[in-house]
Amino acid sequence: MRTGEEYLQKLYQMKPNVIINGENVKRDDPRLRAVAGVMAQTLDKVKDPEFQNLLEVESKEFGTINRFTNIHQSVDDLLKKQELTRKLCRQTGGCVFRCMGIDAMNALSIITYRAEAMTRRPYNQRFLKYLKYWQENNIIGSCAQTDVKGNRALRPHEQADPDLYLRVIEHRDDGIVVRGAKNHITAAAVAEEIIVLPTRMLTPQEDAYSVAFAVPGDWDGVKLVTRASSHKREHFSCPFGDVGDVENFIIFDDVFIPNERVFLGGYEDEHAFGGWAALLFALYHRHSYTGCKPASSEIILGFSALVSEYSGIEDKKHVQSKLADLISVSELVYAAGIAAAHTATKDDSGTMIPDAVFCNVGRKHAGKNYYHELEILADLSGGLPATLPHEADFYDQEIGPLLQKYIKRKEDVPSEDVYKLYRALSDMLCSSIGGVVAVAGLHGGGSPQMEDVAILKGYDLDLRKKIAKYLAGISE
Ligand SMILES: Cc1cc2nc3c(=O)[nH]c(=O)nc-3n(C[C@H](O)[C@H](O)[C@H](O)COP(=O)(O)OP(=O)(O)OC[C@H]3O[C@@H](n4cnc5c(N)ncnc54)[C@H](O)[C@@H]3O)c2cc1C
Repeated sequence: MRTGEEYLQKLYQMKPNVIINGENVKRDDPRLRAVAGVMAQTLDKVKDPEFQNLLEVESKEFGTINRFTNIHQSVDDLLKKQELTRKLCRQTGGCVFRCMGIDAMNALSIITYRAEAMTRRPYNQRFLKYLKYWQENNIIGSCAQTDVKGNRALRPHEQADPDLYLRVIEHRDDGIVVRGAKNHITAAAVAEEIIVLPTRMLTPQEDAYSVAFAVPGDWDGVKLVTRASSHKREHFSCPFGDVGDVENFIIFDDVFIPNERVFLGGYEDEHAFGGWAALLFALYHRHSYTGCKPASSEIILGFSALVSEYSGIEDKKHVQSKLADLISVSELVYAAGIAAAHTATKDDSGTMIPDAVFCNVGRKHAGKNYYHELEILADLSGGLPATLPHEADFYDQEIGPLLQKYIKRKEDVPSEDVYKLYRALSDMLCSSIGGVVAVAGLHGGGSPQMEDVAILKGYDLDLRKKIAKYLAGISE
């Protein structure tokens, strides 16, 4: 299978359409390295016995493929993706960055099948060809779903500027021309392919917004305005020091998409498919969250327990209760993902669809608790994450030994370990990436309100009312 190094070499040769802080940069820019490194790990981990069984999937057509290019065919596929995501996120200290691409591909496997059956346009045939390219080459993808959306109270066709949701502006014999922008697109600057999907349900006046396609990240007319963050260490390196993030504001400046890459073309009467594509991507993505969020919670839990141990308070009652709170979030979210896989249904296309209620309650529980989890960590850490002296002072010949004396907590814990721990806590609680991760914990995969909508849509409330009536002795 393709190696991480092979992916990086291809990435470095892409055209420089990435803009960071006013500068057009190549993709070997050091600010992109952390996230590109995680992508590379997802390729190289197949050699690691702990990951091999999770990462490798046997495909009828191509032999062994990487799970991040797999279309889920069974309950076991969904369970393994969830377990793989959790385990990889423990290693990366944050996001695994590959779920967006494969979640979009799973949604498209269903939508193109339905759209082809109903419109007679060869969307599924094109998708299957494109999937072959993905699986054979172990493609690293991202998903651009979220439109910039303008006035939130107005629908796409009601906006003062119709381009505030991405749309088709021209149909040609050989393809379509699209215009618009997508924001918050994670990892697009280090992805080989960007998959574009609609963001919401659409009405009959909005067929032109029902557009789905894939482009190479450096395709003509695609501009990636990128925000990159990283934790930089001066004196000691550690896995947490390599954590980074890359977010992208992508502008599609009248971009031509050839037919073979168009999976929904914004033709008359296609609006419904756009809405379903939006919902399905969100559903797969929320299932992925039931893998990554338990890992984020575990990381917060580990740091909470360790700082309590170093400070000598680990066995105190309030600390134990807070640690139990963290375990409950992590394991309930994971359990929701397992339940969603076990109650999944098989679509006519052959793709497994996880249960919407379990996925959404899991994602909602994770999102609702993220700031609460950080509050526990901040509570148990005290104020030092915010006031920690700089590394250069801690290791300074003159002042360093004094800082090392006074930073001491439990006698048997070396001062340097206390410093290292607080440096990581500072990164989690007080850094730019820490802030990004927290907002992602809340809004990534959709705002909390969107999960409520999905939960209520898929739930039988009438049945519960009947139970209430029966118990209260109210006749039907
Ligand atoms: C770090 C990060 C990474 C992300 N990665 C990706 C990615 O890779 N790909 C991708 O496609 N997306 C990604 N997202 C986008 C994410 O899905 C969106 O942030 C989320 O859907 C919210 O959209 P928004 O940011 O436009 O906020 P808004 O939609 O503006 O939400 C703000 C508030 O307005 C409310 N609101 C909005 N519209 C209405 C309305 N009509 N009526 C009532 N209330 C309303 C919301 O409920 C919320 O309370 C990412 C987001 C973050 C933060």
